[in-house]
Amino acid sequence: MSEEPRLTPVADNVYAWIQPDGGWCLNNSGVVVGGDGAIVVDTAATVARAERLRAQVDAVAPGSARTLVNTHFHGDHTFGNAVFGPEAAIVAHAGTREEMAATGLALTGLWPDVEWGSVQLALPTVTYEERMTLHLGERRAELIHVGPAHTRNDTVVWLPEERVLFTGDVVLPGCTPFVLMGTVAGSLRALDELRALDPRTVIGGHGPVAGGEAFDATEAYLRWVQDLAAAGVARGLTALETARTADLGAYAALTDPERLVGNLHRARAELEDGELARPLDVAGIFQEMVEFNGGQLMTCRA
Ligand SMILES: [Zn+2]
Repeated sequence: MSEEPRLTPVADNVYAWIQPDGGWCLNNSGVVVGGDGAIVVDTAATVARAERLRAQVDAVAPGSARTLVNTHFHGDHTFGNAVFGPEAAIVAHAGTREEMAATGLALTGLWPDVEWGSVQLALPTVTYEERMTLHLGERRAELIHVGPAHTRNDTVVWLPEERVLFTGDVVLPGCTPFVLMGTVAGSLRALDELRALDPRTVIGGHGPVAGGEAFDATEAYLRWVQDLAAAGVARGLTALETARTADLGAYAALTDPERLVGNLHRARAELEDGELARPLDVAGIFQEMVEFNGGQLMTCRA
């Protein structure tokens, strides 16, 4: 296992559970404690990692009623739901629940060597459409539907008093953004909405604790992808050829740079017809990301 996940205080009784280095399936969670309850924003990919998260929640909020929030359907954020037991309510956007049910445990097939444990899919028990407020004693957590952005249905969790924002994978500080299953243009719109909240602290779906500068970095990358996609189309290149001949510059230092291939496919689809987040051949495009990596499967340290 890579470096130990750690629970980092970001406000009074508010924590970010950070799993270094934030690469494939090493997601972050949030823990918000108040009244007799605790909100856990996203779980983890494997049973072992979710059990460690649950132990950390037990340590800072013993005996509390648990409300899980799933920011989107991806397994690294949701497979650990069942570890919190049937007594935990699981809240998500209605579309996220549908996507989770449709996708099931498919992610485990992508990295068969990962020790997933006996993952049980636990679907959201409470769904919402636009906004929802969770109350923990005096504390308030707002669930806001943004996007389509990273997926068709993304939720961010906003603590207005503490000005702490959990973004899910709409923002990935220090990591390569990934919009293959979402949209470039929609992500840019979502970033504007998040910026307007004016958070003091931003916890992305992966990567270290950040601030508002993470919005600017994400926007700059996505606009670069849009320009690169258009230039590649103009030169008659495929998405993979465009990625291979691109100068990644500083973006090469972000985790998982091969995501560029998926991001270019998405940007090109949007150039064609302007439609956001329409289904693409995800499995085929993952294969191209492997080709970009010289035939090596992307590294997943979960
Ligand atoms: Zn994701």
